Amino acid sequence: MENHLPVLIVGSMALDSVRTPVGAVQDALGGAADYSGVAASFFSPVQLVGVVGGDFPQAHLDFLASRGIDLAGVQTVAEGKTFRWAGYYDFDLNIAHTLDTQLNVFADFQPSLPEAYKKAKYVFLANIDPELQLQVLNQVESPLLTVCDTMNFWIEGKREALVEVLKRVDIAFMNDAEARQLTGQLSVIKAAKALQAMGPKTVIIKKGEHGALLFSGSTHFAAPSYPLEEIADPTGAGDSFAGGFIGYVASRNDQSVATLKKAVVYGSVMASYNVEDFSLNRLRTLTGDDIANRYRAFKEIAYFEALDDASV
Ligand code: AMP
Repeated sequence: MENHLPVLIVGSMALDSVRTPVGAVQDALGGAADYSGVAASFFSPVQLVGVVGGDFPQAHLDFLASRGIDLAGVQTVAEGKTFRWAGYYDFDLNIAHTLDTQLNVFADFQPSLPEAYKKAKYVFLANIDPELQLQVLNQVESPLLTVCDTMNFWIEGKREALVEVLKRVDIAFMNDAEARQLTGQLSVIKAAKALQAMGPKTVIIKKGEHGALLFSGSTHFAAPSYPLEEIADPTGAGDSFAGGFIGYVASRNDQSVATLKKAVVYGSVMASYNVEDFSLNRLRTLTGDDIANRYRAFKEIAYFEALDDASV
């Protein structure tokens, strides 16, 4: 992996309090940058940009470092409090109900990229204030691929900045409800096309338990989700999906549609593992073999006939 191009990731670094029908955690490691950074680190080196307060446990930073993640871009505000999100899921696991969002140290964060990060070729603007996403984008000199994610909180609160981000990225991730909310289109297909018209050539719509859709130029690809029996906590599924996706694309250093399709499946693999446990716990013990095995299982469940099979 030493020769691989790193992925630069900015996003929330959080302490999450989450309740699902099978359990709950309080102030557990979470945040879009943490989930996506750890997921990406299975494929490519990662450079993280974010901020934490003095209350962020050193053990969490040690864990991120143990994944080989470069933390030079992470600021610690000793007297501040870490970003916190509290939410719950009912039996519809695709819907996260937010109880509380405390920006804390993210409210005054001014990202300043270390020199090495400015050369990043693969950039993932994970979920965070779109103004911060723009500040990071402005500091990267000549990226090959820029990707963004967001959520309803920012669609409602920072729409203009988000529209600006969309104008400037190559790929946008959104879940189906967010894509509908942002574009005002009820059809997911029309919403994806409307998003493409706003800037990104490629749009990836995450449908939680129901897989993901890739729209690239005029190509349309649908990936199923893995038929999981063990589900504990859907938090971070979207972020680990995006991390697996960009980590894989960077590891191939290739943006062909064929690679993007495989990346969608690797993203689905990472998301499917992540939801098996609370916080990032499942990713702590995940191995390369686990990833390869589930990728093969995905091939099996998605394949039904070769395109040139004439035996209909
Ligand atoms: P997801 O992959 O969509 O389930 O993202 C879950 C993560 O998003 C949680 O770990 C939260 O800490 C984080 N999060 C929640 N609200 C926000 C927000 N407004 N901005 C950035 N990150 C957030």
